[in-house]
Amino acid sequence: MTDECVFCRIISGEIPSNTVYDDGEIVAFRDVQPIAPTHILIVPRRHISGVNELAPGDEALVGRIVLVARQLAQKEGIDESGYRLVVNCGPDGGQAVMHLHLHLIGGRKLDDSLG
Ligand code: AMP
Repeated sequence: MTDECVFCRIISGEIPSNTVYDDGEIVAFRDVQPIAPTHILIVPRRHISGVNELAPGDEALVGRIVLVARQLAQKEGIDESGYRLVVNCGPDGGQAVMHLHLHLIGGRKLDDSLG
């Protein structure tokens, strides 16, 4: 937990969020500026700044984050229509919040472009 990190503050309950999943290790909440009908952020409770800070031993955590995304896609009813999972990394990747997160985006036809 870091005091400056907005996602740590959401996880601790200091900042309100629309939380849709919490298993004690992984938390998911709706993006405050959604770009599609479903836009959920799936984050580890432990503060990890981003992909570059992942370490050996984090394999299961990363795998579980993806499986939570899949579970939420089913719950949102977008598993058949399709969805996009995105992890931005660093300045060129467009990462604004330095706490590892996976975007689950769907509910409409997404642009073919990956940027
Ligand atoms: P990224 O650009 O990959 O770092 O994405 C950060 C995402 O966090 C953006 O889509 C923001 O809209 C979202 N975000 C920032 N602050 C909040 C918040 N307080 N609650 C929910 N989502 C947020």
